[in-house]
Amino acid sequence: MENERVFEQAAPLLKRLEEAGFEAYFVGGSVRDYLLGRPIGDVDIATSALPEEVKHIFPKTVDVGIEHGTVLVLWEGNGYEVTTFRTESDYKDFRRPEKVSFVRSLTEDLQRRDFTINAMAMDRTGRIIDPFGGKEALQQQQIQTVGRAEDRFSEDALRMMRAARFTSQLGFRLHGETEKALLRCASLLQHIAVERKLVEMEKLLAGRDAAAGIEVIVRGNLFPYLPRLEGTKQQLEFFLSYDVRRLTARQRWLFLLALIKPEESEKWLRSWRMPSKKIKYLASTYEWLQGMKGRAWTDFLLYQAGADRTADVEEVLAVMEKRPSQAIQLMQRYEELPIKGRKELAVTGKDLKEWKQEKGGPWMKQLLEQIEQSVAEGQIDNRKESIKEWLKACNLL
Ligand code: ATP
Ligand code: MG
Repeated sequence: MENERVFEQAAPLLKRLEEAGFEAYFVGGSVRDYLLGRPIGDVDIATSALPEEVKHIFPKTVDVGIEHGTVLVLWEGNGYEVTTFRTESDYKDFRRPEKVSFVRSLTEDLQRRDFTINAMAMDRTGRIIDPFGGKEALQQQQIQTVGRAEDRFSEDALRMMRAARFTSQLGFRLHGETEKALLRCASLLQHIAVERKLVEMEKLLAGRDAAAGIEVIVRGNLFPYLPRLEGTKQQLEFFLSYDVRRLTARQRWLFLLALIKPEESEKWLRSWRMPSKKIKYLASTYEWLQGMKGRAWTDFLLYQAGADRTADVEEVLAVMEKRPSQAIQLMQRYEELPIKGRKELAVTGKDLKEWKQEKGGPWMKQLLEQIEQSVAEGQIDNRKESIKEWLKACNLL
């Protein structure tokens, strides 16, 4: 949906809160992305109303984080997070605050936010409230903490990873002081849960300038405090000398693996606490990648790898070998394969048993595999009769 429409749809919420005597604004990422003309994700709303007051004003709400002041308001088919103006204090172990205090002033709420570009608010008429120079930072394409960078990174060390991912997502650079503070605070990242690091790493790798994000991780010395990246400075620096713009986030994970070459790729991926399905896919595709180096795709290899894996392997190899990708041609060849999976085979084990008049056994699996390969390679038509004839001709029946 267009950005204006997104705000238009949510504006009545602000109006209601105002009519009830409270202040209410759009805040955070949506304001930033709106000013940048980027598609906005969720619109977050900040208000002077306390959570109970918010719940009183709107008929349909869900308590999603009431201790942090957040109520989800269901409104015309959409959900909006409405958060009471708050400050944060008592940061424990360089992580999220132990305590939040509700305040009645917007400025105080904006002050607790991480970067100036994320610390702007917009009222329902479109007026921007920008006490920390967020707009100017947008113009200068800079990521700068609100307040002293060292203090802000010590409060919550995850912000350093957020800094890295915003450079990638937005194509911005770090403000000098913000960058310097990374080196001083980097080791505090060890206190942050892997799950939260993964979220930022995924966003970093999905961003338009992933190399810039990786560069922050290297130059800010963050990598030793990320899962299994200790001692990989050289490989990460190598990342910067390749053009990964064509690659998807998933392919960039593969590319990282290919540069780092962990002994046990599955363990490496597991240390990032990725979903197990993704771990499996990436680990096996990484093996394919190694196997396909300097090798041509046969029809049977295409068939075995499947479309997604073929594309991922080819795209990453093309980047590594600094050559144009053949993925489109490979996808065309894949589309033309006579069958895409064993289920499409015209014969089954049952047919083979009948033809051979034998009981099932290991022979059946072997024979089916042979047929599968020959059909996939186009040597036999995928029809019962032609398969039977071929088997006879090969003395396999
Ligand atoms: P995205 O487009 O990824 O959603 P975002 O800026 O909206 O980016 P969120 O994680 O959704 O990021 O957070 C919303 C807002 O909350 C941010 O814009 C920022 O103002 C504030 N915020 C989030 N995380 C932190 C943090 N760790 N420290 C301080 N402020 C934060
Ligand atoms: Mg957001």
